Amino acid sequence: MPAMREDYDVAVVGGGLVGAATAWGLARAGCRVALLDEGDRAVRASRGNFALVWVQSKGLGLAPYSAWTVRSSDAWAGFAALLRDETGLDVCFQRPGGFHICLSDRELEARATALKRLHNQPGAVDIRAEILDRTQLAKMLPDIGPDVVGASYSPLDGHVNSLRLFRALHTAIALRGVRYLPSHRVDAIARDGGVFRLATSHGEVRAGRVALAAGNANMRLAPMVGLEAPMRPERGQIVVTERLRPFLHHPISTLRQTDEGTVMMGDSHEDSIDPAGLTLGVSAKIAERALRVFPLLADANVVRTWSAIRVMTRDGFPIYDESTTHRGAFVVCCHSGVTLAANHALTLAPMIARGALDPSVVEPFSARRFHVQAPG
Ligand SMILES: Cc1cc2nc3c(=O)[nH]c(=O)nc-3n(C[C@H](O)[C@H](O)[C@H](O)COP(=O)(O)OP(=O)(O)OC[C@H]3O[C@@H](n4cnc5c(N)ncnc54)[C@H](O)[C@@H]3O)c2cc1C
Repeated sequence: MPAMREDYDVAVVGGGLVGAATAWGLARAGCRVALLDEGDRAVRASRGNFALVWVQSKGLGLAPYSAWTVRSSDAWAGFAALLRDETGLDVCFQRPGGFHICLSDRELEARATALKRLHNQPGAVDIRAEILDRTQLAKMLPDIGPDVVGASYSPLDGHVNSLRLFRALHTAIALRGVRYLPSHRVDAIARDGGVFRLATSHGEVRAGRVALAAGNANMRLAPMVGLEAPMRPERGQIVVTERLRPFLHHPISTLRQTDEGTVMMGDSHEDSIDPAGLTLGVSAKIAERALRVFPLLADANVVRTWSAIRVMTRDGFPIYDESTTHRGAFVVCCHSGVTLAANHALTLAPMIARGALDPSVVEPFSARRFHVQAPG
């Protein structure tokens, strides 16, 4: 039998934001990369998200996640500049500081308590969050309505044009010679003589390493290479208005004005992902709350609403892991793929290119955390 030949150094499975950022980082590190994607019929978070590059409130329950998020937020401006230099596309990253708005004293108290708990965790990094009362807030957001009692604020929060980010990453990987293989759903992965063989609907792809970045589908793919990715997909809905004059110069956790002038409102968290369960009730609630925050939105026309399925691990924190049984297999899986895109491209992908994850950086995100026994 002729010796088996690998076609690529790394096969990345999943062409969403996580897979594209990883593939770009691998190509920058000099790897020959194939990026395999299921195609338009797949459920994808990357085309339906809210586009925040968000720091405050990340990491309650896992302090290293907060540090990882701050690292990405700090790297984002450089990441956006690299993408612009390579592709000519401006992804409109801005970090003007962001707010989480509270509409009652109870909400504000709960917010303050959550931020204090986050701050007091062993190993926590300083996210420079503070609680602002209504008067302080009104100086920064003059259009708030009478129901707003205050907000939390962090100068580290920002946002981006997420669809343009997606396009820029795909443009950048094409320019770097990554072979993009759409409509290549990976059905099986086997390791044979040190080479990974990925069975797809269009034949076999062979690679020396494999990086699983297939969102919620990682749950099914990871066990094929001795990894695990326990997931609990979640639905989110977003409501979008027509273009308005610029009035909102900071992103809010559930409301932001895009670089094009539309206002996005959203961030529902729904356990049911069955399309049959979609009703107007959730979008109505989203719009009602947005009106209480900014009464001027009452005159705006809604032009679009959508729902998308979040890639969500069982505990909500990222899973970055490498296989001990199938050397060369990695999983890269998370919610907040917009926020973490800079880390995936600039920190994680170079590790995969070197063939090993650096435990001092990613150990807290191993799926081994799910094996901890409850005290008996
Ligand atoms: C409503 C909503 C709001 C959000 N807001 C934010 C936000 O403000 N900020 C933020 O940082 N993040 C946000 N997110 C999360 C962010 O969108 C996701 O973290 C990110 O898109 C995940 O990217 P992904 O590439 O892992 O997954 P996906 O975009 O789901 O992509 C997975 C890809 O894998 C492919 N695939 C699946 N199975 C296979 C297979 N067997 N073979 C080959 N390919 C396969 C699919 O075709 C798909 O393209 C939000 C998400 C939602 C839904």
